[in-house]
Amino acid sequence: MYNVKEIRQQFPLLNRLVSGKPYIYMDNAATTQKPQSVLDAITESYSCYNANIHRGVHYLSRMATERHEQARQRIATYLNAADSSSILFVRGTTEAINLVASSYGKEHFSPGSELILSTAEHHSNIVPWQLAGEQVGLKLRVIPLLEDGSLDLATYEKLISPQTAMVAIAGISNVLGIVNPVKQMIEIAHRHKVPVLVDAAQMIAHSRVDVQDLDCDFLAFSAHKIYGPNGLGVLYGKKELLETMPPYQGGGEMIAKVSFDKTTYNELPYKFEAGTPDYVGSVALSAALDFVEELGIESIARHEAELSHQIIEGLEQIKGIRFLGTSRERAGVISFLIGDIHHYDMGMLLDQQGVAVRTGHHCAQPLMDYFGLSGTVRVSVGLYNTEEDVQAFLKAIKRTVTMF
Ligand SMILES: *Cc1c(COP(=O)(O)O)cnc(C)c1O
Repeated sequence: MYNVKEIRQQFPLLNRLVSGKPYIYMDNAATTQKPQSVLDAITESYSCYNANIHRGVHYLSRMATERHEQARQRIATYLNAADSSSILFVRGTTEAINLVASSYGKEHFSPGSELILSTAEHHSNIVPWQLAGEQVGLKLRVIPLLEDGSLDLATYEKLISPQTAMVAIAGISNVLGIVNPVKQMIEIAHRHKVPVLVDAAQMIAHSRVDVQDLDCDFLAFSAHKIYGPNGLGVLYGKKELLETMPPYQGGGEMIAKVSFDKTTYNELPYKFEAGTPDYVGSVALSAALDFVEELGIESIARHEAELSHQIIEGLEQIKGIRFLGTSRERAGVISFLIGDIHHYDMGMLLDQQGVAVRTGHHCAQPLMDYFGLSGTVRVSVGLYNTEEDVQAFLKAIKRTVTMF
């Protein structure tokens, strides 16, 4: 049984009152709250094992190193990666994609190269490619959307050409909540020998991510979106690809031998981890994955689907409602507008009623342009949201509508 009341008890922030009332947090696509076990892991690391890792011969350093490397193994197991040396620690999804764009790009992009992405990508999966591809004039080819907001797969396949250097695609859109058929898209790309990067920033918290089953070449996510710490992310890469790529940043940790004439680089994964790693964050992420695994990602997804269903049903009753994306393949995230109420006004008035949602362009301006909008209201659920949250949200929406 999924006991959401009990689960909530483990999140200190959710039990805090704002103006004497519990605050309804429904901005989980932006970031998630942290359970006590994650907070404890952070405190424990600093109180018991804090020391710089990999370099020290002393006890604390050995302990910290061991915990950091265990966390890497934990993440590999969670993602079903064959080998923990394909798990690279980075600062987040954004840095993970920058790493691939820059490093893979250096080796594999040439004049005429093309990259395929979709209309619904986060800026993090657009701008790094533009930056890295500038010198060779990398062209972005964009998969259009169908009426219901899902990707036009027939066009996708036609966009693939001998020029295609990479497909980069979000597993779940952070604006529309639409679940893209990434496994199928990867199969299609591989038929043409094109590698695929999956932006799993949303996917990681709403569905099982199995990198061997997906057969993705790269996959990126941020710990903070799956109840883990802020400032840490993971890049999974197939070893044979990572081996071909030059280092992303230079510094300590990533070297084998440095001299002023020539420096040789460390082996995987350290080649891509310059500087002191976030050995506190990695342990905290490991605790977050334990937390999610204990509840079961399938149970979480079922719970969230039920809440999303109630949100959509409730919103459908409201005159002037317009959903962005109506595909049934959705998870966790719902974007909408009501009549000509500005998304920003809606967000402010909901906040005044103790409900947190996101408004604006959601780091997806090309998608907003596609819909001819400046922004939307986005409500997104997490594993701790309740039916009461949904009712309070709908009530606040209805009250707001009567103010206009
Ligand atoms: C949040 C998000 C990102 C960016 O994640 P950061 O943690 O800011 O690096 C990228 N893509 C999607 C789909 C997201 O939801």
